[in-house]
Amino acid sequence: MKEHIYTIPVTEAFEQECECPLCFCQRNLEGDALEYELGAAMMEPDHRIGTNQSGFCTRHYENLYNMQKNRLPYGLILDTHMEEQNRLIAEAYRAVGDRLAKESMDGLLDAMKDKLAGRKRTADLLTADLLGILTRLLGDCAICTRVANTMNQFADTVIYLFFREPDFRLKLEAGKGFCIPHFKLLLELGDETLSVQKKAMWLRSLLPLQIENLGRMQTDVHWFTQMFDHRNKDADWKNSRDALARAIQKLGGPMDVD
Ligand SMILES: [Zn+2]
Ligand SMILES: [Zn+2]
Repeated sequence: MKEHIYTIPVTEAFEQECECPLCFCQRNLEGDALEYELGAAMMEPDHRIGTNQSGFCTRHYENLYNMQKNRLPYGLILDTHMEEQNRLIAEAYRAVGDRLAKESMDGLLDAMKDKLAGRKRTADLLTADLLGILTRLLGDCAICTRVANTMNQFADTVIYLFFREPDFRLKLEAGKGFCIPHFKLLLELGDETLSVQKKAMWLRSLLPLQIENLGRMQTDVHWFTQMFDHRNKDADWKNSRDALARAIQKLGGPMDVD
């Protein structure tokens, strides 16, 4: 087993009253990563090279913007990121500009000739090139990458403690399970790290926990919808008042909803 330095934050997360202890960990990590991005990271040239390449995902662009302080660092990050990405797009276009101009005047016959000769059309090549650049750009996020690296170690610690600490195992089995993204992460890590026998033991705890708690969540959402039926106007909301907010986090992982 690897050295586990995350025992304390993971154990703390399992003390929380929440739908997914790993979401609790991730929210803390994201908070720290957002602060770092607009603070200490500004002084690290290597990190700036990374954000120039990757940028952020939709959610983290928004989170950084909503940290009202530190508008200048955010401006500086966006400035150099856009400078680099705009250049890549412009270079891809300029590299084929002349051929594209010629192709734009081609007739159907020229296109047929290229097709018969197995020659790719410049417009197709450029489109594929640009889609490659944009797909990479939209798939990358400096904060997601940073957080995911640590989340892997947190999830690894959950599995480690499950086998090592009987109390932790009882707490996990008595808890509310995990959100879908962290359920997937735990399955993947268990698959990679556990022996066949331990994997079966792990699944025999994880699956009943998930089935029960995903079912509970759906029951709450179902009851929420039933409360809009006039026949239930005096009925008890039970646990369904905040069912939608809990359900979408159970389905999608940490998000900023109340
Ligand atoms: Zn989660
Ligand atoms: Zn992100």
